[in-house]
Amino acid sequence: MDMKGTLKKGLAGMMDMFLPRVCIVCGCRLLRHERHLCLGCHMDMPLTRFWERSHNPMADRFNEVIQEGIEAGGAHESYAYAAALFLYHNEAGYRHIPYQIKYHGNIKAGEHFGAMLGKKLAVSPLYEDVDMIIPVPLHWTRQWKRGYNQAEVIASAAAEALGVPVRTDILVRKRRTKTQTKLDIKEKAQNVAGAFTVSEDAATIFRGGGSIRHIVLLDDVFTTGSTLGACFQALRSVFPPSVRISVVTLGYVER
Ligand SMILES: [Zn+2]
Repeated sequence: MDMKGTLKKGLAGMMDMFLPRVCIVCGCRLLRHERHLCLGCHMDMPLTRFWERSHNPMADRFNEVIQEGIEAGGAHESYAYAAALFLYHNEAGYRHIPYQIKYHGNIKAGEHFGAMLGKKLAVSPLYEDVDMIIPVPLHWTRQWKRGYNQAEVIASAAAEALGVPVRTDILVRKRRTKTQTKLDIKEKAQNVAGAFTVSEDAATIFRGGGSIRHIVLLDDVFTTGSTLGACFQALRSVFPPSVRISVVTLGYVER
């Protein structure tokens, strides 16, 4: 090994002494070559494999959400695709991954798992015609306070792995909504209904669809699907039914 490599390794070792790197899921100390997860938690990661099939439990739940949304208007919507990287129940250790990304500024983890997700989509025929990834926007006041949008961090890494652009100029959060965590399903849907819109510039360009075939809407976690449902409705008001809109997340919370 050259001097530079030795020095780098030595520095990393010293960093470990001051700031021990631990597994996000189980909290055990990481070995030098491990990143974010220990080997055991990496191997045990409950991958959904939803990216391999158009019909899956997450897509069924999401299609229920959008069906409720369009019932009033009576518009027909073909079955939307949905996929997540991993699934968990509320109390499982894997919930720490999105939590770390969202509340602890662990942007590196967001990039790591976002890239992992993007690689899964990249080998799926269902997602081979994707034109862009749109992250669920935060209200600007919240993004300003947090310093970043966790969905955008994940989306950027996933888009890079998939070889498509990430677009943050299309979907806009019009108003601030209450934190969703303490609301029930119905309250959550009411809380986010109409909170999103498509920017005027994007609406002018994309009304009619143009050459767009497939949009992936991305969020960190799928819980009830109400936030993604509200985003979907906003995009659908501009993009015609010929444009497929799929939803993709890192985590899928099982009912
Ligand atoms: Zn672990």
